[in-house]
Order: sequence, then structure tokens, then C-alpha cells
Amino acid sequence: MSINEDATIIARAVVLLLDNRVAEASEELASLSQDDPVPKPAIIAGCGTIVPHLPRPSVKPHQLATVLRRDGWRCQYCGRKLVVAGVLELVGALCPEAFPFPSGHHMPVGRTHPAAIRVYPAVDHVHPVSLGGAWADPQNLVSACVPCNELKSDKLGWARGTFSNDGWNGLVEYYRALAERRAPIRRYHLDWLRALGT
Ligand SMILES: [Zn+2]
Repeated sequence: MSINEDATIIARAVVLLLDNRVAEASEELASLSQDDPVPKPAIIAGCGTIVPHLPRPSVKPHQLATVLRRDGWRCQYCGRKLVVAGVLELVGALCPEAFPFPSGHHMPVGRTHPAAIRVYPAVDHVHPVSLGGAWADPQNLVSACVPCNELKSDKLGWARGTFSNDGWNGLVEYYRALAERRAPIRRYHLDWLRALGT
């Protein structure tokens, strides 16, 4: 299976959802692999490496969006195509059986579709914050899939790959139309739609 099979299937499902073909979208999503993406025990966090006991300001949506856009919405370690987190949540809301994705963005293992965890757009600190790396400096942030982000954790010296840019943009172009299916659009989505310039 190609590393980008998940993104391809989710993209097809989104197009079907926007065409009101919910049953077909659910069928499409049912073909996603259920394989667990992360070695156990896994802690799936929203983004980046979470170091406990150190309160710090969150990286803002527009800062994360800048990094993800710069990196072509691909994991910079393995090349996996990533999908806008809000799109994943909306697909989950529209097809809860086929694609469970609880809102709240902590992706509880066992209640979140493994494919959603694989393509969730994490942002990794190249130089770990726990080792003195800057928290919100774009130079220290790269787009990463959750499996790579979990495996890398606080390690140093992971090499970034070079990946062809085929215009993939995380399904940004469908985000607003999808959000409008769940009107009124929640504040979380409004903030991200603004950050993504859509
Ligand atoms: Zn990766």
C-alpha cells in the first residue's frame, strides 16, 4: 500500500460528501486501512512534542498554517500527505461510523480512525523544546505525520527528505464548503479557515 493511499481515499470521500453522496463516501472510507499507525504505547497529542509540566503559549493557527503551507502539506521525514485537521474532524462528523474522529483534537486511541491519526498534520520541533529548541520559531518547525512525530520524539538529527511538489495542499480547497455542511461554523473552524486564507 502506498504511503499516500489514506490521503487519496479521504480526498475521494470529501468530494462525494460535497456532492451529498454520504453513503458512497462512507463506503470509500471503509476501504481505509485499520492498521495501527503508531507503536504502542502511544500518546497521541494535538501537535508537536508535548513535554509535561512546562506551560507555554500555544502555537497559533496562522503560525502552523505557514509551516504546513511552506512544506506542501507533507511530512518532511517520510513524505506522507497530510490533511487539514478541521477537514478530518468534519469528515468524522459527517461519517461517524466509517471514520470516527472525536472533536477536541486529542485523537483518543481506539476511538479515532487510525488513518486519521496517520494523516493528521502535526508540526515537529526539529530541535526538541526539551533540549532548548525554540517553541514557535518557523525555522525550528517542520510538518510531520503523527507516526514520525511520535517516533522522533525528543531525538536529534533526523534527516529531512526531499519530496516532489505535486500541488497537494491538504484538501484546503474543500474546507469551507465542508464546514458549511455543519453550520453554524464553530469558532475553531473559523479561526483555521482564516489562518488558511480560505
Ligand atoms: Zn512521516
